[in-house]
Amino acid sequence: MNIILLGPPGAGKGTQASKLVADRGMVQLSTGDMLRAAVKAGTPIGLKAKAVMDAGELVSDEIVSGLIGEKLDSMAPSEGAIFDGYPRTEAQARSLDEILASRGRSLDHVIELEVDEDALVERITGRYTCANCGEGYHDSFKQPKVAGICDRCGSTEFKRRPDDNEETVRTRMAEYRAKTAPILPVYEARGLVQRVDGMADMDLVSAAIAKILDS
Ligand code: ADP
Ligand code: AMP
Repeated sequence: MNIILLGPPGAGKGTQASKLVADRGMVQLSTGDMLRAAVKAGTPIGLKAKAVMDAGELVSDEIVSGLIGEKLDSMAPSEGAIFDGYPRTEAQARSLDEILASRGRSLDHVIELEVDEDALVERITGRYTCANCGEGYHDSFKQPKVAGICDRCGSTEFKRRPDDNEETVRTRMAEYRAKTAPILPVYEARGLVQRVDGMADMDLVSAAIAKILDS
């Protein structure tokens, strides 16, 4: 099964993707995570992407589609893919069709997480992750069970993204509205889109997604 999680920054795509990884053994393909790893490693892609990401703008279609193709090539054909943060433009959506077809895969669902834009700034500015295992947390909505200790791996180191500040979030939302939202009608015409209330509690969002995947 190959699915796209679609929604603006902070909608809960990463949160739901990691649940699907844990529950179903699917593989999360997050272009944001791949780009952050490239920036950290100082690769040529990372050097090109850093300033664009810090500004909240979009990295080139060629770069992100290349990363997705490479990642899919490292997966077993039986492993399902969760596309998180990709595609983000009409050109990327077209590339994804080609990338999947050339590997004998096809899209099963495009799940749109519908969220109230006013809530997104709070979600994003309160977001942090475990520096060791990447588990996601939130200052108000998902704190570790024991303060300062990661539930999943026990690490006491956490980090925040440099682009998770209010000013950059506004640019990222504008990019979503202008360039990403227009790809929804394309998938809708193909009967692939299902909507989920992303403002509900995380477990309810997960249950709604599970229902779609099991339908
Ligand atoms: P995205 O990957 O779409 O940018 P995340 O999954 O990282 O979004 O979620 C952004 C922040 O909001 C995280 O700190 C996460 O813990 C929190 N969050 C995710 N889903 C919900 C939800 N349904 N209700 C409240 N907070 C949520
Ligand atoms: P994300 O982790 O999905 O919030 O992405 C963080 C940043 O990485 C974005 O603001 C963009 O600068 C860049 N990025 C991630 N995915 C893409 C993509 N599919 N296309 C273009 N830029 C991307």
